[in-house]
Amino acid sequence: MRNVVDAIIGEVYTLCRDNRAGALADYIPELAAVPADEFSLCLATSDGFVYEAGSSGTEFTIQSISKPLTYGLALADRGLEAVAEKIDVEPSGEPFNEISLDPVTERPRNPMINAGAITSASLIAGENPEDRFERLRRCYSTYAGRELTMNADVYASEARTGHRNRAIGHMLRSFDIITGDPDEAVDLYFRQCSVNVTCRDLALMAATLANNGTNPLTREEALAPALVERVLSVMTSCGMYDAAGDWITQVGLPAKSGVGGGVLAVLPGQIGIAVHSPRLDSHGNSVRGVQACRELSRRLELHFLHVT
Ligand code: GLN
Repeated sequence: MRNVVDAIIGEVYTLCRDNRAGALADYIPELAAVPADEFSLCLATSDGFVYEAGSSGTEFTIQSISKPLTYGLALADRGLEAVAEKIDVEPSGEPFNEISLDPVTERPRNPMINAGAITSASLIAGENPEDRFERLRRCYSTYAGRELTMNADVYASEARTGHRNRAIGHMLRSFDIITGDPDEAVDLYFRQCSVNVTCRDLALMAATLANNGTNPLTREEALAPALVERVLSVMTSCGMYDAAGDWITQVGLPAKSGVGGGVLAVLPGQIGIAVHSPRLDSHGNSVRGVQACRELSRRLELHFLHVT
């Protein structure tokens, strides 16, 4: 089995390697400066086998892949119901940074767009801002099975230029979705987006979700099994933003992308996969990330509706 999976990963890697389509995220200066050609692919099983191709030890920022993890911690801190009062679970069909709330419920449409993610950040428990970030950092580290750190340059760049996210924070405050200081919630969100990960880390995070919330290598619980289903549900319907329909048709896995070029996908009970390649399509999803997941899904028959 090991040889078969290694061969398929190698094949997909070679197939996608020369695809140079897409463009680097340039809405914050630091992201426009990353090496554009980085490419890695990693698969981790829910019992801890890891398969890798490319530079899977290179660090990059997690960006929006942090959103389901923070949402999970908010659910653990406040409970399913209290969180549902603030954040809906409907796909928005809008870009990730849309400045909008659902006109009827006046809530962010889901936790995977920025409005929902900033609300999740505002729900993280803690004594003070440092404590709240430390709880998030530790939570992400438990998923990955190693100590993660924040990229201070990316954080500073995002904090300097993140006017749109601040606008979203203040909109949320004006509708009483956020009841505390909106700038504090937005700052926590900037920090969480700036956490450094490798492709291998993302694959292990995905494998942790596949393994009902427990990291398969360290055996530490990152998320209670009862909450894993909710997190994977919103990843299924909303994780790839306005490309969610195309993704679920072609790849068929709960997933999340980030503008740092990472993509993480989960086959519950079985495997986690991750790809890193910084060139993005018009939705903000990694071009080679989407392509590699599609090819892997087809070759390994991972689509969750696939019947053999
Ligand atoms: N830090 C980014 C932002 O809000 C994350 C976006 C993303 O990865 N899609 O705006």
